[in-house]
Amino acid sequence: MDLYDDCDACGIPHARWRAVLGMTLCGRCERTGGTEAAADPVLLGEVLATSAAHLSFAGRLLDSQI
Ligand SMILES: [Zn+2]
Repeated sequence: MDLYDDCDACGIPHARWRAVLGMTLCGRCERTGGTEAAADPVLLGEVLATSAAHLSFAGRLLDSQI
């Protein structure tokens, strides 16, 4: 069985089947998920920052109620 195939996203050979994604992706597309997903880490950072702010706010609410 040949584990290597053409990349589903960009079509270059010697890509690897990624069962998690259900796609055959080369190394470059594997890092980007085969899409223009370069902004995802920034979005994740914003989510984490927002969550931290909410937790801090909730913590102040709890403190004020004691
Ligand atoms: Zn690719």
